Amino acid sequence: MTTTSGLATKDSRSTGVARERTGIRWENKAGSASSLPTRVVRVTSVQDVVDAVRHAAINGEQVHASGAGYALTGIAAAPGVMIDTTDLRGMVRVDDKHGTATFLAGTTVNEANAELRKYGATMVGAPGDGQTTLGGAVSTGAHGYAPREASFSALVYGLTVVTGEGKLLEITERLNSHYFPAARLSLGAIGVIAEVTVEFRRNTALRISRKRRNIERLISDIPEARAKTDFYRIDWRPHTDQAMLTVGWLEDEVAAIEAATRKPELETKVAAAAAKPRKRARFREKLAKFLPFLAPVIDRAANMFERTGDEGLRLTTEVSGDADHGLQVEYQFPAARARDVVAEVGRLVTANKAFAAANVRISLVAADGVWLSPAYGQDVVAVCLQLPGHFDAANEAALRETENLFIDLGGLPNWGGWHTLNGAEAAYVMPRYSDFGHIRSDLDPHGRTDNTALNRLLKH
Ligand SMILES: Cc1cc2nc3c(=O)[nH]c(=O)nc-3n(C[C@H](O)[C@H](O)[C@H](O)COP(=O)(O)OP(=O)(O)OC[C@H]3O[C@@H](n4cnc5c(N)ncnc54)[C@H](O)[C@@H]3O)c2cc1C
Repeated sequence: MTTTSGLATKDSRSTGVARERTGIRWENKAGSASSLPTRVVRVTSVQDVVDAVRHAAINGEQVHASGAGYALTGIAAAPGVMIDTTDLRGMVRVDDKHGTATFLAGTTVNEANAELRKYGATMVGAPGDGQTTLGGAVSTGAHGYAPREASFSALVYGLTVVTGEGKLLEITERLNSHYFPAARLSLGAIGVIAEVTVEFRRNTALRISRKRRNIERLISDIPEARAKTDFYRIDWRPHTDQAMLTVGWLEDEVAAIEAATRKPELETKVAAAAAKPRKRARFREKLAKFLPFLAPVIDRAANMFERTGDEGLRLTTEVSGDADHGLQVEYQFPAARARDVVAEVGRLVTANKAFAAANVRISLVAADGVWLSPAYGQDVVAVCLQLPGHFDAANEAALRETENLFIDLGGLPNWGGWHTLNGAEAAYVMPRYSDFGHIRSDLDPHGRTDNTALNRLLKH
């Protein structure tokens, strides 16, 4: 084990204290998917994962991993043995020479960021949602808000995978590299990811600023934003023509060290500022639910209360804003389509009161070579429609309507959001979809990781 940082690390290869339970119903966070696994095995080490998968394979059982449960479709819902990775946490090693750090796959994005921060480092390609696990984020192609960075899946350095039959494999650009373009985004279909190795950069801080801008103007400026900014995110209440732009630039080592010294003060200020908008968001959601025809007025008023201005330096790219938005459907589009998508979303939300409290988040993701990635081969604009609340029939109808619109406009789904795509449709629009199927057959020849959602996606 390479340990050059002096940080507390974990011996991930020894047997842990896996706990096994039966009769537990699993449900994702939004309540849009559930299952009754025959057993849930809560693993704490790589060896636990190997043991659990081999045991399942010997018994002829299905096996599937779950992370923090934020994905909105049933891709984690397992009928057989569920490998719960939420206790598979911690930093395993740091490699200074290559600028990489290896974490157990159940470590959340926030935990990994915090660990790296102690080390004066920040994660390259960090996903935007800090509560998801690294294993869940890499399995679904989660992305952050750096316009020139590709998705997390495209930027991970390597993975340790326990295949469907229980074989332990290191997969990187150099080791078992033929598996890498498929393993980087695998929807849990090749086995269980036990470790994720990320790249980091040292001594940088992000200077963040918020501005209110006309949405059409923002869309016209996308090419320039992609070329010139290090953080870019539009939060738009789609009943209005004004949107909040959060934009940021990475600063150098000296500024970062200065920020680190001021960190406690800085983080208290940011937390206090974040509390009020959350209360206002809840008020807006309640009002929009009971008086949906007032949505444009409520949204204009809500826009006026939003803080703008320079937020100062941050040591990671975490910027609050998603916690209250339980349901999301995100599709990614070639940049040239962004104007049409925004215009059509505006029309969609005014025509249906189910969208009275909707929010739209727009971000930019760089092209990659990951086979199942919606950004395969081209830079994209990610448009995410968010609905507050839990999954129910009314919300499902609204999500479906949004998805139909996004598909008509030529988008491809973020696999972590809500979607109903099936294998035939995906194969039609994703050039390497069937190549993924071949690698999947190599790594999980007996389909141990099958579940209903994967059957829909992979059998065509
Ligand atoms: C409020 C909210 C905000 C979000 N923000 C963003 C965002 O900013 N950007 C973005 O791109 N996405 C975003 N998402 C989507 C989110 O990043 C993905 O849903 C992510 O997959 C969730 O990770 P998880 O740990 O919850 O995984 P889960 O939901 O538990 O699992 C997701 C998939 O990954 C598989 N999986 C999980 N762990 C492993 C493992 N160790 N080995 C093999 N397979 C595994 C599961 O089987 C399943 O197929 C958001 C979702 C929500 C609800």
